[in-house]
Amino acid sequence: MAYKLLDGKDLARRMKEAMKLEIRSMAEEGIVPGLAVVIVGNDPASRIYVNNKKKDCEEVGIRSFEYALPEETSEDQLLGLIDALNQDPAIDGILVQLPIPKHLDEAKVIRRIRHDKDVDAFHPYNTGELMIGRPVFAPCTPAGVMELLKDAGIEVAGKNCVVVGRSNIVGKPMSMLMLHANATVTVCHSKTKDLKEVCRQADILIVAIGKADFITGDYVREGAVVIDVGMNRREDGKLTGDVDFESVSKKASAITPVPGGVGPMTRAMLLKNTIKACNMHKKNKLS
Ligand code: NDP
Repeated sequence: MAYKLLDGKDLARRMKEAMKLEIRSMAEEGIVPGLAVVIVGNDPASRIYVNNKKKDCEEVGIRSFEYALPEETSEDQLLGLIDALNQDPAIDGILVQLPIPKHLDEAKVIRRIRHDKDVDAFHPYNTGELMIGRPVFAPCTPAGVMELLKDAGIEVAGKNCVVVGRSNIVGKPMSMLMLHANATVTVCHSKTKDLKEVCRQADILIVAIGKADFITGDYVREGAVVIDVGMNRREDGKLTGDVDFESVSKKASAITPVPGGVGPMTRAMLLKNTIKACNMHKKNKLS
């Protein structure tokens, strides 16, 4: 079966072009969106993510502010920084790059971010608003998947959607967004029985488990749409998803590549959330 490649890289590029124009017209009113990126410690993967986020901001015209704190930063110091950023009118979005070192309480740190600056949408306020179907900010990865489906003209309403993975940042919010888009949603996890059989019921299969090439063609119904959120490093250093592209693409009607699928969409949605936050703060920024 010929499949359609869901090209997140291309859609992210188009979204960034539109955002550039939007930011240019905001600048004419004297408004510049600002994103604070906080990184604690020396995790090399986190460093790459933070650098990418800064680069994306620069590309579209968002001002980014990096706060690189040492590994031994105390919780009070980190919370103090967040309090200051919460007050700062130049900052519209605050992102604390996860994971943070173990001696810091991640839940407490996330709760400290003002919810109207929580562009990652991990604060329980935003999680709650998402749950009741009125998201202010939606978490970037699931929101990016929704954009990708919409752009490709893939109908969600009435479809059987199976989400594999139930993390707070991907699986759970993903299932909520699909539910609000009127899909019939099944959420799977490591204790799910007969995963293969459940996946085969999916019209839309979304996989976020963190296991390289785990979902093979025999998990997929002929003609299904397959979204691969996974980002895993192979031994040779190459990036690979949770879906075995080779066998699954033979059955899918549409599929995301890794890299170039969901990853670039996640990055684009962070920019979109920051612009949204800026528009919410417009009055304060001008006064
Ligand atoms: P987590 O480790 O937090 O969650 C993994 C989920 O997968 C858990 O719910 C777990 O079940 C489930 N799971 C693990 N193994 C199996 C299995 N064999 N069968 C069924 N379910 C299983 O991961 P994340 O949600 O944070 O990330 C998932 C993947 O997505 C990773 O590869 C990550 O790198 C990637 N990612 C990509 C992003 C992007 O921009 N493209 C952004 C964020 C993440 P249980 O709850 O029972 O343990």
